[in-house]
Amino acid sequence: MRALVARAVGEPPRVEDVDLPAPGPGQVRVEIRAAGVCHSDLSMVNGTVASPYPLVLGHEAAGVVVEVGDGVSRVVPGEHVVLNWAPPCRRCWHCGHDEPWLCERAGTPAVARGRTSGGEQLHVTLGLGALAEQVVVPQHAVIPVPAELPMEVAALLGCAVLTGIGAVRRTARVAPGDSVAVVGLGGVGLSVVSAARAAGAGPVLAVDVSPAKAELALAAGATDFLVADESLSRAVRALTAGRGVDHAVECVGRGSTIRAAWRATRRGGQVIVVGMGGKDDIVSLSAMDIFHSARTLRSSVYGPSDPDRDVPELARAVLDGTLDLGFLITDRTTLDGAAEAFARMARGEGARTVVVPQ
Ligand SMILES: [Zn+2]
Ligand SMILES: [Zn+2]
Repeated sequence: MRALVARAVGEPPRVEDVDLPAPGPGQVRVEIRAAGVCHSDLSMVNGTVASPYPLVLGHEAAGVVVEVGDGVSRVVPGEHVVLNWAPPCRRCWHCGHDEPWLCERAGTPAVARGRTSGGEQLHVTLGLGALAEQVVVPQHAVIPVPAELPMEVAALLGCAVLTGIGAVRRTARVAPGDSVAVVGLGGVGLSVVSAARAAGAGPVLAVDVSPAKAELALAAGATDFLVADESLSRAVRALTAGRGVDHAVECVGRGSTIRAAWRATRRGGQVIVVGMGGKDDIVSLSAMDIFHSARTLRSSVYGPSDPDRDVPELARAVLDGTLDLGFLITDRTTLDGAAEAFARMARGEGARTVVVPQ
């Protein structure tokens, strides 16, 4: 089958023929119908997150189960599923303490699976490698969803939407009337904007380095768009009676933008880090600033959600019309167009590109 494979840091990924093993006990084969191009995949290509190569990219996808291994009870062939890049084991300490998003056995950046056509050991992103015609994954990495749910929307539920909505509802617990700033307007950031507005927040200040994101931000529900530059904290204060926002959500994963979010937050407010950054990127805050600002700095990992519970709930909300995600998809392409979608994302253009592999 064909898959989008990264071979070296900084080199554009290419479509290659690869071989996946047949589903073993407890595994399923899924034909991918739609896969989003997410910024975390870019981090595996540009070296922000160190990865073994060759690596099949992609971790945000939906498809149809086509084959199941022995002992699979969760799904049957023909079922539509959303892929989960952090399936909880349900046995470790975190899983036992209602924190499945911190499962000790989930979320490994790259897992060895399959072979290239030349016989090399292949790796798959976050245990999935979903920018491909098919994946073979453990049954717990698939979540059944209704067949009426459009595949391209289903794909986004598995990463950008779960992460963005969860950051607003579960981590920040945004209440009506709260002020929110969102820094970084990719798929996750735009989901945060939309969820903040749906929670009754106002103002919702959308921030990006690219002025071209203004229109997308307003379509997602932002009340104002601000360009991220030196004057950002002044601009935010001007819109929040001089105080700064109650919640600043950082969706980039960079020391400089975490600091910008910190400075845009009011005394006693909270900074939520959603972006996944590099391990050598240091955020420095003075001891006096930490004490005097009385701000809270928190991270929000994958929601924090239990995808087995929350993905079906989001799917129902899309189907009953209470969750509209149309604003998120700005481009559609095939597997052959996926490398160009990475280039667009690296340039900061558009929201989500959805790849339809077949
Ligand atoms: Zn993602
Ligand atoms: Zn666990």
